[in-house]
Amino acid sequence: MTPDRVALSYHDRHYTYRDLQERVNRLASALDVRRGDRVAFLGANQPALVETLFAAGLLGAVFVPLNTRLAGPELRYILEDAEPALLVLGEERGEERDGDGLPGRHLRAADYEALLASGSPEPIDEPVSQDDVCLIMYTSGTTGRPKGAMLTHANLTWNTVNLLVDVPLAHDEVALIGAPLFHIAAMGQALIPTVLKGGRAILEPSFDVARTFDLIESERVTLIAGVPTMFQFLAQSPRWAGADLSSLRHLLCGGAPVPGPLIQAYQERGLAFMQGYGMTETAPGALFLGADRSATKAGTAGVPCFFSDVRLVAPDGSPAAPGEPGELYVQGPNVMPGYWRRPEESAEVLSADGWFRSGDVGVADEDGYVRISDRVKDMIISGGENIYPAEVESALYEHGAVAECAVIGVPDERWGEVGKALVVLRPGSAASSDELLKHLDGRLARYKVPKYLAFVDELPKNAAGKLLKAPLRKLYGKG
Ligand code: AMP
Ligand code: MG
Repeated sequence: MTPDRVALSYHDRHYTYRDLQERVNRLASALDVRRGDRVAFLGANQPALVETLFAAGLLGAVFVPLNTRLAGPELRYILEDAEPALLVLGEERGEERDGDGLPGRHLRAADYEALLASGSPEPIDEPVSQDDVCLIMYTSGTTGRPKGAMLTHANLTWNTVNLLVDVPLAHDEVALIGAPLFHIAAMGQALIPTVLKGGRAILEPSFDVARTFDLIESERVTLIAGVPTMFQFLAQSPRWAGADLSSLRHLLCGGAPVPGPLIQAYQERGLAFMQGYGMTETAPGALFLGADRSATKAGTAGVPCFFSDVRLVAPDGSPAAPGEPGELYVQGPNVMPGYWRRPEESAEVLSADGWFRSGDVGVADEDGYVRISDRVKDMIISGGENIYPAEVESALYEHGAVAECAVIGVPDERWGEVGKALVVLRPGSAASSDELLKHLDGRLARYKVPKYLAFVDELPKNAAGKLLKAPLRKLYGKG
């Protein structure tokens, strides 16, 4: 349709839709990958990530993007679980890192262009069904180990349809993609819809405030999707007041609660957020709040996306009335079929009739606008990255001096929440908090390492010996 328009920009490289199609065909024919095989990618946003995603899709293979912030042991765990036929390494992972000893067959960035050139530009003829899995994204869990959420072509398609019902994307969008594509938000709410409409996606390897302002002005960016922390960094920058933001049409903010003052700061510049609530498991959109309601319904995450259903279930299993909290369930064509090789954990969150149990608590107002009020699952959101305390606690327990520990979230101006560890030492041991934090470094991604660590004499438990986090948050939840 639009072969000569630019599809992808990355620094000074620009690929038109014709270029992109040819490159993806070449890559698909050159990859020694079969239907159903997993193809992992470890790297920041860059053309090879997008090309590998599309090439895998053409082959009926499954793209597995890896979070670049994870520590070596965390990456190894995921690779052993996903068993990819190939791990593609991004260009920032130079020779010296040598794949960090990660298992499996690797394709290095240095060999990528040669491989691509060896492939055929002709389209691949592989029958792929909408119900085939095309993406596995790992999300950690309350049990402490990451699980791969499987998403099908249909899941991604319907998420895009849901988005396009609410957001009138045009063919001339210029999307700035600075949020990492290994998370579903950047992929599902920015990259895929933009490319589907024939717009241009500018890939940035990381989110950088100054670059963002430069690009908005020089490239006339129309769409940015991100987490509240990102938008907050922009609003707090000295560039904010003087920048030319007139090209911006769509600001999509989600993944964590959006603070009221942030909405206001953008409003003062004539900009309105569209807000959303979603999850990896729902590809991701579940609730959506349009720009026209972002002020009047501030504090809510909106109403269910058009082709999806959301219900709030009270603790006794009945539907929660307006004003009453209930656990949020999602049903629809965007809901994942399950976790990769985890039938039991899949059955825990997915009912037979397709309702996905989110672990979040919501309250609907009289008009059906849902405010995310709490979480049933034990999770912290820090700068848009989820931290599962169970994972941090199990890493702490690997230290010999730790008798008991618990990690809770405490409010933080900059990151929304940060982790705080409470540790009971074994009698006779004398580890310092520095030593314990150093122990976590290298075992866990940096963002998961608690910002605070305090020693306590005991942790509150119920009669069955189960740790009680609510009283802990009351006692120590101040930072
Ligand atoms: P992820 O699977 O990493 O996308 O994380 C999904 C989780 O992020 C949800 O289950 C929520 O706990 C949280 N989340 C996403 N969007 C919002 C939002 N708008 N408000 C509050 N929490 C959110
Ligand atoms: Mg998230």
